[in-house]
Amino acid sequence: MLDRCDVLVVGAGPAGSTAARYAAEAGLDVLLIDKRKEIGVPVCCGEFNASLAVLAEALPNAPGLDELFPLDPGLVRRKIRGAVAVSPGGREYEFDLPGYTVDRDAFDRHLVDAAVREGAALSPDTMFLERDGRRVTTSRGDVEANVVVAADGPLSRVCRSAGMERSAVLAPAITCRVDGEFGDRLKFFFGSSVAPGGYAWVFPKRGCANVGLGVQRPATPVPILLRAFLAHNGFAARDIQAGFVPVSGPIGETVRENVLAVGDAAGHVVASNGGGIAPAMLCGRLAGLAVAKHLLHGESLGAYEQAWRSAIGRELLAAARTKRTADRFLGSDFLLEQAMGILGGRGIRNIIVFGGLRGR
Ligand SMILES: Cc1cc2nc3c(=O)[nH]c(=O)nc-3n(C[C@H](O)[C@H](O)[C@H](O)COP(=O)(O)OP(=O)(O)OC[C@H]3O[C@@H](n4cnc5c(N)ncnc54)[C@H](O)[C@@H]3O)c2cc1C
Repeated sequence: MLDRCDVLVVGAGPAGSTAARYAAEAGLDVLLIDKRKEIGVPVCCGEFNASLAVLAEALPNAPGLDELFPLDPGLVRRKIRGAVAVSPGGREYEFDLPGYTVDRDAFDRHLVDAAVREGAALSPDTMFLERDGRRVTTSRGDVEANVVVAADGPLSRVCRSAGMERSAVLAPAITCRVDGEFGDRLKFFFGSSVAPGGYAWVFPKRGCANVGLGVQRPATPVPILLRAFLAHNGFAARDIQAGFVPVSGPIGETVRENVLAVGDAAGHVVASNGGGIAPAMLCGRLAGLAVAKHLLHGESLGAYEQAWRSAIGRELLAAARTKRTADRFLGSDFLLEQAMGILGGRGIRNIIVFGGLRGR
């Protein structure tokens, strides 16, 4: 492993790989480390991405979407046409939601390969331990780095090393695979007995579905909620994994000292649906470009904060606000049933997909 570099990127998820790709493309020496032995494994994700058209509508000021999302068709596991939201009482509301599911491990490897092709050095099985200015200690030795990118997920140790806050609300989520054919519509299930404060999902793939749920402050642990959901639907699960989704919006400050936070580490998630892959990649691109301008042309690292805020800041904040409002309804099955009836499919789509901002 390199013992010095221009940029050390910690975390080879969508945020880190994309930051590494753009920094390396600009000509910087980039070291990309991840604590996992195998990139993307184990998978802890619903594995759904909205189509480019939906992303462009949801995030209209985001630069680079068409650079990042001409997806290799080989990565698509199922083209998705739309979605059905199921109320606590079992009423179904359909809406359009074009997109696709992926195998998240293959997707993450694809993004890492793109960074390596641009010249980034990859070091898996390497854990970030601590940082003192430019000196970073990892499980494989010390590295001297001018800039460190914190792309190490919602519990970011790198952010902590720079005294940055972490997302105030981390929603527990759990996922698994269920074999079978599930059509071409996502299904979202609401209700306090299914997923208190959140939703359960069935996202079709090829020959199986990604099934899971995300909740907020559950009285019952998520593995028990998942087991009940699986039993209720007669599903047999494999590959169960649990994690956290930051759902309180972006952290207040994403640049401090020589550290930039990106992706889940920065709270770059659309809180109204928990989707973070696209924001992670968009902000990863902006982080890579900002680090290059800083190290090659002396521009301020703080420009990164302005860049991502003007690209998607308004939308992420609106989705977090909408999520807080929705939490009041999600706390009562009666209110939720009423609210879903009033909103109908289009209104539910506007809230889930667009954080209440668009698609009316
Ligand atoms: C159950 C669940 C379902 C989800 N479903 C979807 C979905 O369907 N669609 C969607 O868009 N989003 C979904 N999300 C959110 C999405 O997975 C994240 O927003 C996205 O992965 C963020 O990318 P990232 O690169 O910031 O972080 P991550 O993908 O979490 O990558 C962080 C990387 O950092 C590494 N790392 C952590 N600590 C260290 C350390 N100390 N040293 C070295 N490496 C370290 C990890 O191993 C990991 O590889 C879901 C999340 C969960 C938990």
